[in-house]
Amino acid sequence: MLFKKITRRWLVNGLGVVVILLLILEVAAVLSLRSFYYQQVQNSLYTRAKSFSDMLAVAVQQPDFDFEANARTYLLEFPDKEKMEFQLLTAKGDILASSTGFLPDEKKCPDYQAAVLSRNEGKESRGVWTGKNAVGQKVTSLTLLVNGADGSVCGGIRYLVALDKVDAQIAMLTAVMIALGLAVLFFVILSSIYFVNGILRPLTEIGQTAKQIAKGDYSCRIEQHYDDEIGELCNTINNMAADIEAADALQNEFVASISHELRTPLTAIKGWSETLRDSGLQDEALLNKGLEVISSEAERLTGIVEELLDFSKIQQTETEFTWEKLDIFAELEEAVFLFRDQAKRKGLVLQCVQQEDLPPLCGDRDRLRQVFANILDNAIKYSREQGTVRVDAAVVGNTVQIVISDSGIGIAENELPRIKEKFYRVDNQLPGSGIGLAVADEIVAAHGGTLEIDSTKGVGTVVTVTLPIQ
Ligand code: ADP
Repeated sequence: MLFKKITRRWLVNGLGVVVILLLILEVAAVLSLRSFYYQQVQNSLYTRAKSFSDMLAVAVQQPDFDFEANARTYLLEFPDKEKMEFQLLTAKGDILASSTGFLPDEKKCPDYQAAVLSRNEGKESRGVWTGKNAVGQKVTSLTLLVNGADGSVCGGIRYLVALDKVDAQIAMLTAVMIALGLAVLFFVILSSIYFVNGILRPLTEIGQTAKQIAKGDYSCRIEQHYDDEIGELCNTINNMAADIEAADALQNEFVASISHELRTPLTAIKGWSETLRDSGLQDEALLNKGLEVISSEAERLTGIVEELLDFSKIQQTETEFTWEKLDIFAELEEAVFLFRDQAKRKGLVLQCVQQEDLPPLCGDRDRLRQVFANILDNAIKYSREQGTVRVDAAVVGNTVQIVISDSGIGIAENELPRIKEKFYRVDNQLPGSGIGLAVADEIVAAHGGTLEIDSTKGVGTVVTVTLPIQ
């Protein structure tokens, strides 16, 4: 259907217009050619007639001037008998004599009438006519009226020429022009077929690839033949397929890692509950330990599930933000306080420094705490033992900047651009879901701020959260 439509549009809009233009051009050219040739013939008749009429105009001054005698002498000596016919007309327009020696059957001379009309209008006494003679031959004729000494018409001189040769020449030139037009049309069709095919072929390929992508085959790509808009479209579709493929792989990885994350506490819970059922109820110490493990693993499970729920809510923009004025440094200190024990267990120094008094910010208290918690959790999780995690807050321009830096394992430069993508994790062996930074980034963006990550592998990571002061 698509191809039919494009081909139809090309036929109507492209080829149709070219054909009409060519037709108009050809017709105009043939008409002008015809009028030019006929005009040339009439001009040559006029030149002859004029020279004879000039001669007569001098002779008419003689007292014994006889128009008929003069004209008959001229007629006898007429040199162009082979090329044209010369006729002698009476003052009424009847044919008196002809250079062919025969008097033609037709008696009417339309060009004579035209000459009389022209004379009456005060113009030159000249008339021309083109038509068929008595034997059906196409001719053109020119008549000039001759004046007597008193100024009245004493007769006319008429020149006639057959147009067969001129028409043959015009027909030949017309044929050449038609051939040229057809050649132009041929090349237009040829180049258009090439052009339309150049669009249709990649479009077919794009259509097939899109169908394959829709079926779930994200690995298919379109071969890029052209470096134009079509090429760009192919490129965009290829990039889209690559992005979907990467997202799909990431999602699969995420499902695998999340299953793993869930399995670990579930295995611990299952193991300990079986141990307690089988023999632990008698041993109070074992019972306490078992219950402690079950409780902490259940808490871990709740944490993971909550993180996932939170993320899906943010993704579906279900999260309602509760905006209020808040002391951002107090929130920061609160978050740092919550991680104090975790940092201590790893032997880390955890500092929170306020460079100056911070103005109150408008934000969602719980969401911002979640941002700090996610970043601090990473900073501690990816720190080596005995390292440092530092939190700095300061006013920069009309923003508050919170910098959380650690001396941990760092992130390789090539991983940095993807680190905020959801489900993206540098090392799948380490615990985590890869959504902490994605969630933090979305929350900060909803506050009109930015979250930037700078890191050097083996040296440490710096996360900068910038929030506008409103
Ligand atoms: P996760 O739950 O895996 O920590 P995040 O979205 O919080 O998910 O982080 C994504 C990835 O970024 C992590 O898997 C980790 O590899 C890397 N990362 C984040 N923060 C740090 C950091 N402070 N130091 C080193 N690597 C980090």
